Amino acid sequence: MTNGRLKQLRNTGIIAHIDAGKTTITERILFYTGLTHRVGSVDEGSTVTDFMPQERDRGITIQSAAITCTWQGHQINLIDTPGHIDFTAEVQRALRVLDGGVVVFDGVAGVEPQSETVWRQANGYNVPRIAFVNKMDRPGADLERTVKMIRERLKAHPVVMQIPIGREDDFRGIIDLITMKALFFEDESLEPTIRDIPKEMEDVAEEKRDKMLEAIADVDDDFAWAYLEDEELDREMIVETLRKVTCDNRAVPVLCGSGLHNVGIQPLLDAIVRYLPSPLDVEPMVGYTEDDEAFVCDPTDEKSLAALIFKISTDPYVGKLSFIRVYSGTIHSGMPVLNATERTTERIGRLVRVHADQREEVKELKAGDIGAILSLKSARTGQTLCSEEQPVLLEQITFPTPVIKLALHPRTTADQEKLGKALRNLCDEDPTLYVHYDEDTGETILAGMGELHLEVIVERLKREFNVHVETGAPKVAYTETITRPIRVEGRLIKQSGGHGQYAVVVVDLEPLETGSGFVFEEEIRGGAIPKEYIPAVEKGIISAMQEGPLAKQPVVDIKATLVDGKYHEVDSSEQAFETAGAMALRDGLKRANPILLEPVMEVEAIAPQEYTGDVISDLSRRAADVRGIEPRSTGMQSVKAHVPLAQMFGYATALRSVTQGRGTFTMQFSHYQQVSEDTHEELVTQVA
Ligand code: GDP
Repeated sequence: MTNGRLKQLRNTGIIAHIDAGKTTITERILFYTGLTHRVGSVDEGSTVTDFMPQERDRGITIQSAAITCTWQGHQINLIDTPGHIDFTAEVQRALRVLDGGVVVFDGVAGVEPQSETVWRQANGYNVPRIAFVNKMDRPGADLERTVKMIRERLKAHPVVMQIPIGREDDFRGIIDLITMKALFFEDESLEPTIRDIPKEMEDVAEEKRDKMLEAIADVDDDFAWAYLEDEELDREMIVETLRKVTCDNRAVPVLCGSGLHNVGIQPLLDAIVRYLPSPLDVEPMVGYTEDDEAFVCDPTDEKSLAALIFKISTDPYVGKLSFIRVYSGTIHSGMPVLNATERTTERIGRLVRVHADQREEVKELKAGDIGAILSLKSARTGQTLCSEEQPVLLEQITFPTPVIKLALHPRTTADQEKLGKALRNLCDEDPTLYVHYDEDTGETILAGMGELHLEVIVERLKREFNVHVETGAPKVAYTETITRPIRVEGRLIKQSGGHGQYAVVVVDLEPLETGSGFVFEEEIRGGAIPKEYIPAVEKGIISAMQEGPLAKQPVVDIKATLVDGKYHEVDSSEQAFETAGAMALRDGLKRANPILLEPVMEVEAIAPQEYTGDVISDLSRRAADVRGIEPRSTGMQSVKAHVPLAQMFGYATALRSVTQGRGTFTMQFSHYQQVSEDTHEELVTQVA
């Protein structure tokens, strides 16, 4: 029973860099799957997936919405992923819950730097993919060139299954190299018109079909034998083999079309159903029980519940929507579930499946499925829901440290009052967003993944929460860490008269590699401190990490091991141990050679070759470490460099001026490094 249902389920994401046509294609898919009755247009700002107002303004999809549609008896849960690099944590989160993806390329631009980034991420999560080369109607669109780039830049194994009929304005259809038929998309009906291959294209179609078969034979031995023996390769065998090698990540079927002109969308839907995996075809998710044992989330209804919250959104009508993927078991309305991350239990209210423009209330969501819970109180992106009897924690998603921050100044007292709640909502949705109240300046500080990220949040405050704020200039988020291990004692003893306070802790601190965050362990011998006080010590340490000893910047990448301590029957309390933990940490940080770190970005600037020299000298002025120069498409050259984020403010303008407006660049967080002596001085004096 379960298997039948699961076989016909596809959890699929559309992955692409900005502007490749993801929104247009999603929209067309919703149209053809019969859920919308009009074809929305991105240019007019009327699409269904991009439902937040400023996404429409900006034409970028920021939040990944999960939408359910049906094609050929299969349920497709489409997860829209954002293409902007500032929001890659959102892409990562979506990639975790997908079983397969459609990667959209722009047929003119081919494989762009941002496509490389999302492709690498999809590799990281082992997501099987098909490629859709879009915009085949545009002048300069070139399927072969794009395929070559997929092979060379992405190191993938493309299997080209279609070729375009006609070019540019004359682009009218595609030849399906499996059925060897020509498909014309002449109206908006569900079926393309199928004709014989035009005479003048017969030879090239034969040649490309052979190439397709060879490409499959390259990655599958059984198929290679059949191909070499000249056996009759029927459609079924080709499709089956291609499904197998796609699901195993050995090959990437390549399709083409034009989202805007409705060419190739139905074959794309067919391909999603035929070649992309069902939840049964991928490795099951593994979680951990309370005893740290692996809990394999087989996608069966019988197993106990394990579901991951992968997105929270605030809907103007129904309030908080928590999107979940159920990995095993069943979740149904009315049942109590444990939020294993927060250790709170809550009764599930209503469950919905979201379609293009309406919500369908459902009684339950079963293993493999995706849907949303209405008004779940404690829910943040990345948390696990499970049954109370069998607590299980699905792996935590690790999010990168924020690199940039912004001070918020509410305009009026009314704005001030609403700000806290609005920010709490936004933080529930977006774990890459951090809010911090600076006691010294009385400012609310927002920290995130990039300038655009924070800009969007400020705009959402205004539009969705009616909170108006002025902002300071964006500033680099510095951090602090230590460079040598140290053993420290935190001692809080106040026993003069009345109820005293007593807590002593001994903590070993050691530096960790960059990006490791914070690790806490306890190795207490023989109950020197009762178990119930240990979480309080951790809490104290974490709270003291918010401000480092040098410049009051957050402390990262350290391990704290609680090794010893003392307590008093009457005078010890959680509060006392929390304070002792904080005291130990503050003292330890000062004495373990602390340093200040700054975020370094990976920058790629692309410009016509004649400007390469100027691009490099400008980057050098910004303390860049130039890492490579490579030719790009005709006449263009790419310069890759590591540059401290502090040096990158205003780079867009600078690049435009040194390249006569012809340069573009991408930038993403790379790593943290110790700041220069000058910056160190500057930051330290600022707080003194
Ligand atoms: P997204 O940023 O990937 O979601 O891309 P959009 O769907 O917003 O498309 C970006 C722009 O490309 C819009 O102006 C679309 O109208 C246009 N576009 C999308 N698909 C096609 C296509 O197949 N052909 C042409 N010529 N333009 C397209």
